[in-house]
Order: sequence, then structure tokens, then C-alpha cells
Amino acid sequence: MAERGIKTSKPRVHYDCTKCPAFCCSIYERVTVTKADINRLAKHFSVSVEEAREKYTAPWENERVLRRVKDSIFEETCMFLDQKTRGCTIYNGRPGVCRTYPARSRCAYYDVLRFEQTQQGDKNVVPVVKIIFRDEDE
Ligand code: SF4
Ligand code: SF4
Repeated sequence: MAERGIKTSKPRVHYDCTKCPAFCCSIYERVTVTKADINRLAKHFSVSVEEAREKYTAPWENERVLRRVKDSIFEETCMFLDQKTRGCTIYNGRPGVCRTYPARSRCAYYDVLRFEQTQQGDKNVVPVVKIIFRDEDE
């Protein structure tokens, strides 16, 4: 999850967040935040920790997640995504999970994006994918 305008393609990283519509900020219903993340949000917006918790996060089972809004490409996205540039508006204040994703040299969603753009012969096409997690026992 990257800041637009800052190229993240390092030698051994095979994705470029500046050329991606931010799948990771949009298709996951849960962007989990820790207490430290809420503290960082509070500092970023110069509000109290309680205010940051209420304004920017929502309950999800036993945890807190970033609030989501309707999106112009996907059904929903993170409230902090700039829907025009597809960049994070709180880059320095973003949660820890956003800082580490995808935690490997390839991003599966970027690969799907590039695959479909090649397959469809259109470098502007966006495959609108959705991810649903199901327990195998269900
Ligand atoms: S889905 Fe992958 S390439 Fe796209 S913004 Fe997220 S980490 Fe970057
Ligand atoms: S905080 Fe920023 S990087 Fe994290 S999900 Fe929201 S828009 Fe994406």
C-alpha cells in the first residue's frame, strides 16, 4: 500500500503501487488496527485517542478496523483512500498492516492487474475482483 508519486518498485519487488487502483485498500473488509495504530492516527490528526477510535475505526468482532466508504471502482474502500489518485491520504499515519503488505516480492493483485491488461490488450482495464474468505468446514 503505497503513497502515490513515490515509486515503490525496488530491484527485487515486482509490483508498482503507483500503477494500481489499490486493491489492498479496497477488497479486504478488515484493515485491522492496534492500539498503537489508533495512537498514531490520533497524533496524525491532532485529535484525542478516543476521537480517533470513534471517527476512523469501527468494531469487527473483537477487534477494531478502519472505517470504509463507497468506492468508485470497487464496492467499498478504506475511508483514507483518495479515490481519484488511488493513493493513501494518511501515508505517514497509516496502520502497521498497511506498512508491511504484501510482505513479499510479488503482489498477487498487481499480477492479476497486469495479466488482464495484457490479456485484454488494454493497459487501462481494471479487473474488479472480490475476495471472500470461507472456512473449509463450512
Ligand atoms: S494491491 Fe499490491 S500493487 Fe496494489 S497498491 Fe496494494 S500492494 Fe500495491
Ligand atoms: S490507511 Fe491508507 S494504505 Fe491503509 S488501507 Fe487505508 S488507504 Fe490503504
